[in-house]
Amino acid sequence: MRIRDVKIYALSAPLSEPFAYSQGWVESRGACIVEVIGEDGTSGFGEAFGPPKPVAAIVAHYAPELIGSDAFATDEIWQRLYNRLRDHGRKGLPIEAQSAIDIALWDLKGRALGLPIYRLLGGPLRTRVQAYATGFYRKRAGDPLKYLLEEAETRVASGFTAIKLKLGFGIEGDIALCRAVRKLVGENITIMVDANHAYDATAAIALGRQIEDYRIAWFEEPVPPEDWQGYRETKAALKIPIAGGEAEFTRWGFRKLIADRLLDILQPDTCAAGGISECKKIADMANAFGVRVNPHVWGTGIGMAAALQVLAVLPHNPPGLFPIEPVLEFDQSEHPFRMEVLQEPIVQRNGWVEIPTGPGLGVEIKRAALERFRME
Ligand code: CA
Repeated sequence: MRIRDVKIYALSAPLSEPFAYSQGWVESRGACIVEVIGEDGTSGFGEAFGPPKPVAAIVAHYAPELIGSDAFATDEIWQRLYNRLRDHGRKGLPIEAQSAIDIALWDLKGRALGLPIYRLLGGPLRTRVQAYATGFYRKRAGDPLKYLLEEAETRVASGFTAIKLKLGFGIEGDIALCRAVRKLVGENITIMVDANHAYDATAAIALGRQIEDYRIAWFEEPVPPEDWQGYRETKAALKIPIAGGEAEFTRWGFRKLIADRLLDILQPDTCAAGGISECKKIADMANAFGVRVNPHVWGTGIGMAAALQVLAVLPHNPPGLFPIEPVLEFDQSEHPFRMEVLQEPIVQRNGWVEIPTGPGLGVEIKRAALERFRME
């Protein structure tokens, strides 16, 4: 199937109430959605993590090259596009743009063949996945120890049995939050923490030692993504498993993290690290080195559907009667079009999400939403 056309949708919507993570305030949500259209009119959709307009410009740069290409030759296209900008951008925006294209091609391939992507990848190894609630961002006003505890109650009441707290707002406040949330939710709820690389290794270790007693399932992005030695020291010093990788890209970017076992849990983002093709390769590399993989997810339902297809084929590490299963990141913060872009939203029930079984990504796109949230 030859590619007939490529359409690009840069979407954005303001938030009703801005929220902060350790690196700044989020005032709006955005996404770059890519539609690849085959010669028979079949469409595939993909999403890129990252600022929509610059990503869209790179997708537009690739579009003339894509038209006329064999849409099923996902690895050939991946390699060709990567090589075009290899000398200029081996991480970041070019790979995010390529991720959206790759996901759209897989969606198109699955729709044309009438199979979900996980079937084309040799799965499924699982048909549903446990979700954890991401949220717990800071507001401009109010006492975080009050509104974040209320949020914890809300998430648990909605069915989640795992929640991830945002840290990186100062060590003492971070410790107080972990203590208060553990006390509130009891022992049966899983708690992860995420500093969004707010600390250096010295501070991350000091913080980690103080929260080890609260049974933290993982400590995500304790240090900046470039600080590999900091990851090594943090992992060696703490009992808490160390997670990271949402700001890493491609098999080459993940190579050292995996081979040197700089962290316990790898978190490639399907919409950033190189798409479904590349995340499968990264996951298999991680499997060979005994490192867990839990994809990072922070976009719309299109990106989440892509992550679910990857989750369906993540190998067990190791297999057995009771293997450790990967989990789905389910962002609960405000996003005006997270599920609006889908005709049927992806939902969790009792903390579990069914992996869509329809062709391609398994979700149908609401085209009206793509137009409604389109940037000028
Ligand atoms: Ca994170």
